[in-house]
Formats: sequence, structure tokens, C-alpha cells
Amino acid sequence: MNRRTFFQGAAAGMAVRNAARAAASPGLDAKIVRLNLLHTWTTTMSASQYRDTLYVAFSRDGITGHGEGAPIVRYKEDAESARKAVESVRELLLSSNPMRFSKTLAEVFQRIPGEWAGKASIDIALMDWVTQRLGIPLYEYFGLDPADAPVTTFSIGIDTPEITKQKTLEAADYPILKVKVGLSTDEPTIEAVRSVTKKPLRVDANEGWTDKEEAVRKINWLETQGVEFIEQPMPAAMIEETRWVRSRVHLPIIADEACERPADIVKVKDAYDGVNIKLDKCGGVLQAFRVIQMAKALGMRTMLGCMVSSSVSVTAAAHLSPLVDYADLDGNLLISNDPYRGVRVVKGKLTLPDKPGLGLTAAA
Ligand code: MG
Repeated sequence: MNRRTFFQGAAAGMAVRNAARAAASPGLDAKIVRLNLLHTWTTTMSASQYRDTLYVAFSRDGITGHGEGAPIVRYKEDAESARKAVESVRELLLSSNPMRFSKTLAEVFQRIPGEWAGKASIDIALMDWVTQRLGIPLYEYFGLDPADAPVTTFSIGIDTPEITKQKTLEAADYPILKVKVGLSTDEPTIEAVRSVTKKPLRVDANEGWTDKEEAVRKINWLETQGVEFIEQPMPAAMIEETRWVRSRVHLPIIADEACERPADIVKVKDAYDGVNIKLDKCGGVLQAFRVIQMAKALGMRTMLGCMVSSSVSVTAAAHLSPLVDYADLDGNLLISNDPYRGVRVVKGKLTLPDKPGLGLTAAA
């Protein structure tokens, strides 16, 4: 080896070592990503053409864990407040041992008031990192069988009867639909769906009905329309009224806005038959696991839902889906610029990636 080759080799070696050191040193990237909706999305709460979610990438020892949180306007969160929340614990995350994630997340939850989507983005990124390090898919960390993953519903937002029909026809691949109601157009909406399909329907009123007699009337009419259950018929605070309604209808009533986190199970257990669990409401995968276990212990039905979000958040939720009775994990199917691929829907059934961690790949 001559002098020149020696120095070239040494420089190359140093560059490789520097790159390895950079990859090995902990890194945290929190950024807001705008997801574009395929259809303007209308519920009782909002109408929009895009949603901003928070992405977190946690890197250490050459492994990067990805997380996402979709802030929920109803809880007065937005992507910027979520980003600030994550930045407030940057030093803690970079200095902690990620394998001791329960300890770190307990500290994160103690330090950040509210900001459940921000917390979820941290939890998901850490759990993706940890299970990649362990070399197992996230579902295996929880001891679950991916073959038990349920069929997911596909959601139809509130629209004119003509567009509702068109959306229903476009959802031909999905064997169960979830229809949003709760405005004055409930009957025409369901009739529009029923004019083009006989599929089982699940209905979400998003707290839209404030009169308990009206709620009973509508739920009993929905029962005649082949509806399997009704989600959040009345405002979350109207627990007593919901209990009254529940005693007068046959359809199961599922709590969404009325049940955010584990302790809320105690409030809703006598007024509802089940709970809709979302990582963005409760603060991530580990919290969602707790809500599911508490609900099951009390004999309640369980459902995993999501906000409009990319495959990062939806795939994280899908890894827990073998545990639940119902899944409404279609948030990534409603957008046109998903940055990742993860869980897939095959004839309606959630199909989990079997790679370590969440099993995400960058979209082509
Ligand atoms: Mg809902």
C-alpha cells in the first residue's frame, strides 16, 4: 500500500466511523405533516380538506422508531401544540434508555399536561424502536396472533345523498361501512346508503343528538335498517340521558367522545355497552392496551378507532387490533399522500406487516 492509498483508506474509514457514530447517537425529529383528504370530510364537528399531524422520529444505535399523533380539535389540541409538547421532553427522551420505555413514558406523561396526540407520537416512536431492537413485530410484543385481526369498517362522512351514494359505491371493497350521522339529514343519509348496498352498517352520531326521546326514536329506526351499533349518540357529558336511552333500545351503544383514557371506563361502564379506543385520545399504544384490558375486564365491547392520519398511527393501532371486537382503522385510506406503507386492508380484513417494529416502509 502506498502513502496515498493508505491516507485515502484512512479517510474513508474515518468517514464510515463518523457516519456510524452519527447513526448511533440519539436523535429526535418532530415535524408537522399535512395530509390531504381524498374527499372533504364532514362530521358534526368539522369539515376540512386536509389534516395536520405530528410526526416523531426517534433514532438511536442505527434504529429509527416512527410515531405519529393526530391532534383532536375537540380536546383543544393542534399539531403545533403537539410539537411543542414533544420538544419540551426532548432532553429526557435523548438521555433515557429507550428499553426502559415504561419509566420514560411515565415521566413524559407526568411532565406534559394534556396533548394526548403528542404523547401518542412519542409512545408509538418508542414502541416502534423497542420492537425493532427486539427484532419482533409490535403485535408479538403483546403476544397477539395477527390472524385474529378484525375486518375494518370504511367510513362515509356526512354529505349530500348523491355523494353519499357515490362514496358507498366507491367503498365496494369494504364489507362493513361506518356511516356518520348526527345532523338533520340522518334518514336521507342512511336511505342513500341503503339504496345501493345491503352491507352491515355501523353508525356514529358524534354526540349529535341532544334530545333523549329523539335518540331512542332514531336508534330504533336504525335497528330496522340493518345497523349493528350506534356510536356516541348523545353528548359525552349526558351520561345519565345515555343510560336512559340504553334501557330503551336493543342496539349496543359505544362510547367514543365519552371515553378518552383508562379512568373514563369507570364513568361510562353503566351507560354504554362498549368503548371506541383511539391512540390519539389516550396517549399511545400502551395506554390503549390498558383501556382495552379494563373494558374487557368489565365485560364491555371494545373497538379500535383512529383519526384521519397516515399509516404510522393506523398501523400502530392495528397491531393491537387482534384484541378487539371491532375496528374502524381507515384513517390512512382517506388521504392521498400517505408517506408510509404499513397495515393493509385485504377484503376488509386488517393485514399486519410481519417485519420488526411497526413494519413500516416509505411510500414509493
Ligand atoms: Mg366516533
